[in-house]
Amino acid sequence: MIEWSEQHLMVRDMIRSFIDAEIVPNIDELEHGDMPPYDILRKMITTFGMDQMAKGQFDKQIAKAKAIESGEISEEDAAKEPTGMGVGEGDVIAMTFIPMIELCKHCPGMVTAMGVSMGLGGSSIMSKGTIEQKERWGLDVLTLKKVCSWAITEPGSGSDAFGAMKSTARRTEDGGYLLNGSKTFITNGPHADVIIFICKLDEPGVDPKDRKILTFVLDSGMEGLVQSKALKKMGLHSSPTGDLFLQDVKVGIDRLLGGSEDRQTRSGAKDTFTQERSGVCAMALGIVEQCLELSLKYAKERVQFGHPIAEFQLIQEKLARMEVARVNLQNLVFRFIETAAKGKQMSLAEASASKLYSAKTAVDVAMEAIQIHGGNGYMVEYRVEQLARDAKILQIYGGTDEIQINAIAKDLLSR
Ligand SMILES: Cc1cc2nc3c(=O)[nH]c(=O)nc-3n(C[C@H](O)[C@H](O)[C@H](O)COP(=O)(O)OP(=O)(O)OC[C@H]3O[C@@H](n4cnc5c(N)ncnc54)[C@H](O)[C@@H]3O)c2cc1C
Repeated sequence: MIEWSEQHLMVRDMIRSFIDAEIVPNIDELEHGDMPPYDILRKMITTFGMDQMAKGQFDKQIAKAKAIESGEISEEDAAKEPTGMGVGEGDVIAMTFIPMIELCKHCPGMVTAMGVSMGLGGSSIMSKGTIEQKERWGLDVLTLKKVCSWAITEPGSGSDAFGAMKSTARRTEDGGYLLNGSKTFITNGPHADVIIFICKLDEPGVDPKDRKILTFVLDSGMEGLVQSKALKKMGLHSSPTGDLFLQDVKVGIDRLLGGSEDRQTRSGAKDTFTQERSGVCAMALGIVEQCLELSLKYAKERVQFGHPIAEFQLIQEKLARMEVARVNLQNLVFRFIETAAKGKQMSLAEASASKLYSAKTAVDVAMEAIQIHGGNGYMVEYRVEQLARDAKILQIYGGTDEIQINAIAKDLLSR
């Protein structure tokens, strides 16, 4: 893939019109007025038939899971079939990336809220859940009918998510579990209807670092589960972030994702990291495209020393470097779409390299956009300061820059 197709561009233009009508007029409320993003996102999802697309994929996945369970087809044969609904997997990804890129030009937080809920939450349930769990939570999460959180980070465990994890699941005599622990920085935490809670099995006598990692699906309102109010943060205001506290939350085996302790692996969470990292390229592309467009416009209009500042070579250099960044990010996005179209998945190392580059590039470009705008760039009205604050999160969540570097180096050194 070297460019967007006619169909992609048509969808992009429709999404742009939706954003201009529904999001731009509400942007101050979303960014500074504590307006949760979910109603506008739901409207976008239904307007563009994204819910129907998700339902088509959902029905297909359930039919496939049932066929495997009944022995009609083998897991091997099922894996060879495309999962889209008459379109290739690459098209599904492209149609997901286009709204992400366009939304990131205005509200990267909305992409985070949506991506964590429908993407991380939805794919955790659909890839690892039992058929019953997929039917119980999957479709509602995939269509944002229900808001979902994916909770691994704790006050004492971030980058070392598994090693320092304190949250526990203790087996009970009736075959269920008692869950305890606290999670922090959880996207959608304050509003989540469904929570994917990752913890360690309380196994007396087993070294904590070797204990099983278990994942549970919780519903808001369960006894012993408290969801905090939104935390105050630097940027990304259209994505509510919160803490979760669990005290003796009683769950049955029906809430253990996959239905069995033996089906749980650390690599399950690692697959999620790969997916999360790839989405950051699309987010960065949206931020960079917008910064470049705003900077070009401003550089042509702003006159100093009797000339538009666009005539100064130092400003031209900044604009040229922004274009280099835009082209590189665009190519990364196309590579990701093409990889999916071929039914492949990027290695964790490649996804890490892409995320590292994309996140840093988005921050660098947004900071240069502020510089081109001078004092106006520091003002809220010109929007580039918000994009810079929002871009910074890309270097922290989904694994910090330093953790991406570790992952890349580890892969290189293992060859
Ligand atoms: C807005 C926001 C939304 C988030 N959403 C979610 C969510 O939905 N779900 C969820 O589970 N989590 C979420 N997180 C948490 C996020 O994934 C973590 O903040 C991130 O992984 C970093 O962990 P930490 O904050 O504990 O930093 P730490 O791990 O304490 O790191 C501090 C510093 O030390 C560096 N460092 C750590 N280890 C190493 C090492 N081995 N080598 C070199 N340097 C190292 C880090 O790179 C960083 O610079 C979110 C965070 C934010 C801010």
